[in-house]
Amino acid sequence: MSKVIGIDLGTTFSAAAYLEFGKPVVIPDKDGHKLTPSIVAILNDGKRITGRQARAQAESNPDGTVFSIKRRMGRNSYIDPEGAISEKGLITQVKRHMGSDFRIKIGGKEYTPEEISAVILRKMKKDAEDYLGDEISKAVISVPAYFNITQRQATLDAGAIAGLDVIRIIDEPTAAALAYGLDMEGAETVMVWDLGGGTFDVSILELGGGLFEVKSVSGDTWLGGEDYDQRLVEYLIEEFKKEYGVDVSADKGAMIRLKDAAESAKIEFSESEFSHVIFPFNENRLEAFLTRGKFEELTRDLAERMKAPTERALKDAGFKPSDIDRIILVGGSTRMPRIRQLFSEIMGKEPYIDMHPDEVVAMGAAIQAGILTKEIAKRILVDVTPISLGIETEGGIFTRIIERNTTIPATRSRIFTNSAQDQGSMEIHVLQGERTMSAYNITMDRFELTGIEPAPRGEAMVDIKFEIDANGILRVSATDLRTENSKSLRISPRFYGLAPEEIERMIKEAEKSNESDGMERENAKILIRANNLLTAAGMAAKDALSVICISESAKVEEMENMGRKLEKAISEGNTQLIKDASDKLEKCIKVIETEIEKKFQKKESLNRVA
Ligand code: AMP
Repeated sequence: MSKVIGIDLGTTFSAAAYLEFGKPVVIPDKDGHKLTPSIVAILNDGKRITGRQARAQAESNPDGTVFSIKRRMGRNSYIDPEGAISEKGLITQVKRHMGSDFRIKIGGKEYTPEEISAVILRKMKKDAEDYLGDEISKAVISVPAYFNITQRQATLDAGAIAGLDVIRIIDEPTAAALAYGLDMEGAETVMVWDLGGGTFDVSILELGGGLFEVKSVSGDTWLGGEDYDQRLVEYLIEEFKKEYGVDVSADKGAMIRLKDAAESAKIEFSESEFSHVIFPFNENRLEAFLTRGKFEELTRDLAERMKAPTERALKDAGFKPSDIDRIILVGGSTRMPRIRQLFSEIMGKEPYIDMHPDEVVAMGAAIQAGILTKEIAKRILVDVTPISLGIETEGGIFTRIIERNTTIPATRSRIFTNSAQDQGSMEIHVLQGERTMSAYNITMDRFELTGIEPAPRGEAMVDIKFEIDANGILRVSATDLRTENSKSLRISPRFYGLAPEEIERMIKEAEKSNESDGMERENAKILIRANNLLTAAGMAAKDALSVICISESAKVEEMENMGRKLEKAISEGNTQLIKDASDKLEKCIKVIETEIEKKFQKKESLNRVA
């Protein structure tokens, strides 16, 4: 039997893992990288590429490059970035067979978030096939625990478009807990704090005796490392305007570079108190000195937003911070010192940081695959649904049918009655959320139950049944209990997500665009090298600034000029020019590096004499 892989489809990076003798192993791509940037590009001829190839061409193709698509999965475009829903959105939100009405327009064609995510999943599948030498058709895919039903369905659809049978959706923190507790002896109550590129999750689980039981889940699907990057980007734009009078934000290609520069500065703050950003822009060399203190001030409110979900998860599980034995940090963004400090403040203890925060989720997804295929024995996972589900009743009230943190799979039903005399039909408005009024929750769908037996107000009896499966996917049925036959029963087997024929069409289109022919591998390598060199040049300039004296700054300038030439060649997409400029830039970098080395040697010898 071929392997079932586990995939962590992340906002910023994705990873896949499989089981080797019952232990999870992260799958590298052909070049040995274990993490694939979750970036997708649509080229002029409609071909789709992803990962490092897409990253390498992003600056020269900003309109055709899609970052962070996960943030759009199953989200309607009228859900604003903070997750609040506009009134207008609610009125028009009824869209059957749609995971989301959000579309990305590239080159005159519209793409759904599912299609874009499928490009990433297809690469994960292909890399696994190349590595394992076997065809892969099944996967377990992880999602943020706080993803709602529509977002989960959109992930299943993306898998289908990529040619994968997604045998289970698993919550990211749960996956991390599986990886943590696989070989654990004894029993523990753990809290998983997962702050990735785009989402924040808190889960509390009880582990012991092979049982992994999720007690509560909370989070925010619009909070992650990218919000931190964005704060720095905004700050740098303003600083550059003030200092140099230039508006970087008007140049889309430069904005992609600025986002990278901001992310690098953010990552630097995880180790150091300062960051010096050097940003070549047109003929200028823009610089900014940043401190970790300033960074934390700019992002204070983001950190504050992690408190409420943490407290809610504790309350829902009926625990105090002292009841938690172990706190596991997952996701690259938990490396930020302020996050660790905040965590210790709330929980009163230090987190456990021995697991690889970027790989642990894919490993856990592979373990779940092993549990389902019985490759791993004597392990049981008991999960919950993160957000309450219900219907709208008279006066716009949201009446819950399945409460949040109910163990799944679950079936719950409630009997409802008519609000009008002889009401022949009933509109069943299915929602997910925690607010009392329907207007503030998210519509999953509406359907009409017709043929209700005429009855005075309050006397009809309609049984509404919600069934939620192990993937957190919902089926709803409504039955008029007074009707003898079952003709009024209405089950919606698949009332949200993409229609099967839409998925079929997308599968065909995706297959046509096999990414290996999306761009000549050689060309892609040239681009990747060019971008790596640009990064290296930036670093060399920075190092040079601190060690080389003024008389040698001409060499730095020469390197920067060459860097600008290379950037121009990249933006023009001329492979030969890119190659030539890369070779020259490489030489310049070497010169600078040699100079720096010389200075260090001199300093060292001076030290020794002293
Ligand atoms: P993940 O989705 O878990 O791969 O997390 C990706 C996010 O973690 C991105 O926003 C990265 O910028 C961020 N990240 C990775 N390493 C660090 C670090 N050392 N310090 C701060 N953020 C980081």
